[in-house]
Amino acid sequence: QEDNHHQEEFIFRSKLPDIYIPNHLPLHSYCFENIAQFKDRPCLINGASGEIISYADVELTARRVAAGLDKIGIKQGDVIMLLLQNSPEFVYAFLGASYIGAISTTANPFYTPAEVAKQAAASKTRLVVTLSAYVDKVKDFAGGESGIKVVCVDAPPPESGILHFSELTQADEGEIPAVKIHPDDVVALPYSSGTTGLPKGVMLTHKGLVTSVAQQVDGDNPNLYFHQNDVILCVLPLFHIYSLNSILLCGLRVGAAILIMQKFEINKLLELVEKFKVTIAPFVPPIVLSIAKSPELHRYDLSSIRTVMSGGAPMGKDLEEAVKEKLPHAKLGQGYGMTEAGPVLSMCLAFAKEPFAIKSGACGTVVRNAEMKIVDPDTGASLPRNQAGEICIRGKQIMKGYINDPEATKGTVDEGGWLHTGDIGFIDDDDELFIVDRLKELIKFKGFQVAPAELEAMLIAHPYISDAAVVPMKDEAAGEVPVAYVVRSNGSKITEEEIKQYISKQVVFYKRISKVFFIEKIPKSPSGKILRKDLRARLVAE
Ligand code: AMP
Repeated sequence: QEDNHHQEEFIFRSKLPDIYIPNHLPLHSYCFENIAQFKDRPCLINGASGEIISYADVELTARRVAAGLDKIGIKQGDVIMLLLQNSPEFVYAFLGASYIGAISTTANPFYTPAEVAKQAAASKTRLVVTLSAYVDKVKDFAGGESGIKVVCVDAPPPESGILHFSELTQADEGEIPAVKIHPDDVVALPYSSGTTGLPKGVMLTHKGLVTSVAQQVDGDNPNLYFHQNDVILCVLPLFHIYSLNSILLCGLRVGAAILIMQKFEINKLLELVEKFKVTIAPFVPPIVLSIAKSPELHRYDLSSIRTVMSGGAPMGKDLEEAVKEKLPHAKLGQGYGMTEAGPVLSMCLAFAKEPFAIKSGACGTVVRNAEMKIVDPDTGASLPRNQAGEICIRGKQIMKGYINDPEATKGTVDEGGWLHTGDIGFIDDDDELFIVDRLKELIKFKGFQVAPAELEAMLIAHPYISDAAVVPMKDEAAGEVPVAYVVRSNGSKITEEEIKQYISKQVVFYKRISKVFFIEKIPKSPSGKILRKDLRARLVAE
């Protein structure tokens, strides 16, 4: 018997062979590498106005914005914040920043001023691109002497000193500074709490995102996911990496048309699907649910949809069945992502040259050019097929690390280069991945992240609260909602309503606490860690 070092490792790979990935290219060059083949075709369709913008025009505007950013002082390595809903300007700003080696940190425009300020400070944002309606959210930290500039994509408030986006788009595309972009340079900085703690800046590099996009759409399987004739619905927010990567960047790479919707509204969505003959509909489970439940469905011709993709949160079998019945022309497949993983770990292969059957409940197979293993959370040993454990992934697509947080990075990516997801799943005999549980603290409201640690810190800061823990509670519409266990401080009579309001004032809508349970003591391990499993079990009993 040999020692542990010689223990067998169980490593799983894609059902498809590896491919060549040109991950030496900067992200924008990679996305536009084949643009000559489709430069006059529609690239962006603005769902709000019906305007159609060609590939040639999107590329040109992005280059002008690159020159414009340089002109107003944004340099290689600087961070710009995109505080925007989906819009063509989001796309121009993201790509423009990429051209000059700058980094985009993306934030939810519904964030409270405090949430925006926190992310801006942590990411060292130099410029915020936003709408005039959100200027109030940034005025406390940007403008004036801060040196942080603000650009509005609509008319800025008069005499505010805020720039208009046209100052960027009117720059001369010939004046993009010559920068040398290294494949390991960061291009996107989304925020995620990962497996534990507060939201952290996830450093996604040019190489990482090129690899991830290629894993989804490159190779000799042009129909694997998208192709040039596709019209892809972009209703999921581009500030989340799922939409930014798997819709926008993948769409650009293949030359598809990307139909931008600013916000989710079921009837408008159905109308746009019919009008523009949408072929690919990437969703999260709550949107799938509203489609399955819509009484208006029969009024629209949705037969153009060839695939409905669901990701971001688990989709139950009942929902799967319901939507299959409502959209009989479409294939329904799940993908599995995590911001830190770049984000796609696995996807269904319904559209490969030789399509593989999609199994109900599966999240597809691990992406190509990557390795997956399932480890026993207690021993760290890798597990064979059909045994559930923590899902780990390795490959060039994963994050470079959390910005300015080597400790948290070490806690997530181990010395062997394996990213630990905090999700529990297994791989079956056909190389299909099934997710069965979540080990980590993260709560997902309609696919949006809620970090318990963030809410716990706010609760504990209240003078009438001595301790608190936040856990997920199942919810039909949202998937999960945060609920709090609270220990009142001595003599305090603080009520559930007061606590809910106290939190609501500080956070975006989906982080609001939906229920408060008062408790004598928060169960903790000897090392002081909240025993979340116990609370989750208690919640089920309650
Ligand atoms: P985010 O970083 O916001 O993309 O959140 C990533 C987390 O969402 C994952 O680690 C999972 O817990 C969850 N998730 C994403 N896709 C799926 C899926 N298809 N099924 C179950 N959970 C998912």
